[in-house]
Order: sequence, then structure tokens, then C-alpha cells
Amino acid sequence: MLFSKILLPTLKDAPQEAEVISHKLMLRAGMVRKVASGIYTWLPLGLRVLRKIENIVREEMDASGAQEVLMPMVQPKELWQETNRWEKMGPELLRLQDRHERDFCLGPTHEEVITDLIRNNVKSYKELPINIYQIQTKFRDEVRPRYGVMRGREFLMKDSYSFNADEACLEETYQKMRNTYKTVLERIGLDYKIVSADSGSIGGDASEEFHVLAETGEDTIAISDSSEFAINTELLLKDGEDISSLEGKPSPDGNGTIQIKKGIEVGHIFQLGKVYAEDMKANVLNKEGKASTLHMGCYGIGVSRLVAAAIEQNNDDKGIVWPHGIAPFDINIIAIGYEKDQIISEAADSLYAELISMGYEVILDDRKDGYGTKMKDSELMGIPLNIIIGKQFIENNEIELKARTGESSSNDIGDTKTILDFFKNK
Ligand code: ATP
Ligand code: MG
Repeated sequence: MLFSKILLPTLKDAPQEAEVISHKLMLRAGMVRKVASGIYTWLPLGLRVLRKIENIVREEMDASGAQEVLMPMVQPKELWQETNRWEKMGPELLRLQDRHERDFCLGPTHEEVITDLIRNNVKSYKELPINIYQIQTKFRDEVRPRYGVMRGREFLMKDSYSFNADEACLEETYQKMRNTYKTVLERIGLDYKIVSADSGSIGGDASEEFHVLAETGEDTIAISDSSEFAINTELLLKDGEDISSLEGKPSPDGNGTIQIKKGIEVGHIFQLGKVYAEDMKANVLNKEGKASTLHMGCYGIGVSRLVAAAIEQNNDDKGIVWPHGIAPFDINIIAIGYEKDQIISEAADSLYAELISMGYEVILDDRKDGYGTKMKDSELMGIPLNIIIGKQFIENNEIELKARTGESSSNDIGDTKTILDFFKNK
């Protein structure tokens, strides 16, 4: 892609409204623009990152045996009345009427719609377990939308719902999803913790959250420094415990000392049990030919929130430092004098074509600007590798390789292998 042809409005300074680093950098790097409170347009650069995360999630969900569907965003009131959530959800549920004055809402989550689908189409225990997912826009009329796409009103979520014959089978699917989520976060390259959590308005028996550790996290979590013990302090507050009494104290599981950290919730997995299935009469015939209530699990990942969370964990004073797996481009060819010097433009064009033919995602900075502006933009956008074709190329036939992490080296333009080794190792 040519830099001069993309809608990539980078900014020197972040607008006043941006409080946290990810929001500032997403605006400055031209990834998103606000349309209304908590509602954003994703520009080409931002969308590339969003799609990468979405694809990692999709690949791992498919690998787990889950099946993808796409449910509607607009949902009828009648389904929500069956679980009493039309009343319970309160103002977070955005309600609307069609021309016939029928009530609908914009889906903040899809338990009702999926349970309706399954009760009408799955009849026998032999069809279980089944795990259905979608990657779709959600709407929640949050009290305090903030931090850009981190807490939006409209956001992209992967939600999945499993239907199981009994508790043991639900536990099995739950563990499979737990492992899938671990793989997703490891592939993205994030430092995270799995935390015992409150089930909130979704309800159910047991739940765990996946938190990306970052100072700007809205949740406070208590973590043992030498075991897997981790709990959202929300859960302790609900039980009337006192968080301060935990700080620096021995971990309740007997291993290590408790540390209090901030986390960004990027995923949440629940064992719902029979709550929705009972309300909505979702049954299958069991081995004995009798109607038996389904056991349900639900599993969410905040796809758009993950973009912001990844930036919170990977940035420096120059901008974003993308983990390789989700960078919008692998390589930026910075061609200085592209518009006026044929030696430069020919060399840049041919390297660009070669790297693309090898499967790399490359942007070519063909703008009239000088080295300073181009490098600043590239560092802001966090492209892992820059290849500079400029004065040194004309004089010595040399190009410069500069990793976003700082390391640099000079190279022969024809030596693509060394260029790519340099890229892979940074
Ligand atoms: P939170 O406590 O942050 O409001 P939640 O418990 O309401 O989250 P879930 O209902 O479990 O969230 O939704 C699944 C995932 O969707 C969350 O783990 C989070 O990553 C993402 N998510 C939830 N609300 C938002 C939002 N307002 N903006 C962006 N992502 C969100
Ligand atoms: Mg919420």
C-alpha cells in the first residue's frame, strides 16, 4: 500500500479528551475517529489491527471445534421478556420501536437469541455438546463511555455459547474455552492473568475473567506472586471483605504473597448452568427419551478492547510498539526523494513488490516529506521494521534497516534474506 493513497491522518498532538495512552495513540496514529460518545469509525490502519485480532480469535475458535454464525444486532423484546432481562437490564439496554410500534433492543449480548435457536433446532442429546460463536458488533449504553474503544458503547465482541448435556460436559467445554483464550492472548503477545470473577448481570454459577495487566486498567485484582491465585476484588467487595487487608498478606491458597494490580478485562468465561435454559424451556431428549434441561456456558472476548489493551502494554515515548502478530504492516519502506529521484523510486518499488510477493504486508512511504517526518510517523504507528532508501543508497548502494525496538543495520538491497532475518529477530 502506498502511504500517499491511504486515509491515514496522523496527528502531532492528541486531542484533549484522550486520557489514557492507548486512546491518545489510536487518535494520533489515525486508527480511529469518534462519531459520538463511545461510538467510533475504524480507519484503514486501525481496521487492519482489529481484523488481525479477529482472525486470531476466529482461527482458535475454529480449532476448538466451535462453529461460527452471525446473529442479528436488533432483537425482539419478547425473547428478553422470557428471561426477565427486558426489565432487569435497565438503561444499558438500548430500546427502539419499529414502524408498527413493536419493541426491540440493540443486542448487548446474545443468550436469548442463541437459546431460542438451539431450543428450536437441536432435539437430542446426541447432537451435544455444541458450541456456537459469532464475531459481531454489540451495543451497550454504558453510563460512562471512556478511554476510546476500551469502554465504548458500540464495540466488537466474540461471543460463544455452549450447550451441554450435563455439568461434567459443561466443565469440559469450559476448560477447552479457557485454553483457547490462553492461546489467543499468547498469540497476540500479551501479558495476562486469569482471575476469579463476579458473574454480574449475565448470571450463572462460576466465571473467570482474562485481564491484561496495565496501570490504566479499570479493575483491581489481587494476585499471588507465586501461584495461580488471582481474584477480582469486585468479588471480595460483594462479599463485604476488605481489600486493604489483603495487600502484602499471605495468599489464601497458601502460596506466596498478595499483590494488588490493575487489569483490563479482555475476556470473560461463564458456566451459566441451567439459568437461561430453564427460563426459556430449552430441552433435549436424553438417553431415556425424557426431556432434559440444557446446561449452558458463555464465553466473551472484547475484540476491539483488545486493540487498546495491546497498546497499553506496548508503547514508548515515540508511539505504539506492536507485537509482530497484530502489527498493521510488517514493514515500512521509507523512500526519501521518491517523487524526484528515479533511482530511489525504482529501488523502492521493486523491493516493495518483492517483499509483497513473499507474503509480507508492506507500506511504502512515497510522500514528499523528509526522513524526520516519515520516521516519526512510522514510530507512532509502531511498524516493526523500517527499510530506509535514501542518500546512502545513491552514494553506496546501501539501505538502512531500523527496527521499531531501536536496533539498526546497513544492508545490500538485494540481500532480502538478511533483511527478513533482521525482521524476524526483532
Ligand atoms: P466490563 O466489566 O468491562 O463492563 P462486562 O463484564 O460487562 O465488562 P462481558 O459482558 O463479560 O463484559 O463482555 C465480554 C467482553 O466484552 C468483556 O470481557 C470485554 O472485553 C468486552 N466489553 C464489555 N463491555 C465493553 C465495552 N463497553 N467496550 C468494549 N469492550 C467491552
Ligand atoms: Mg459491562
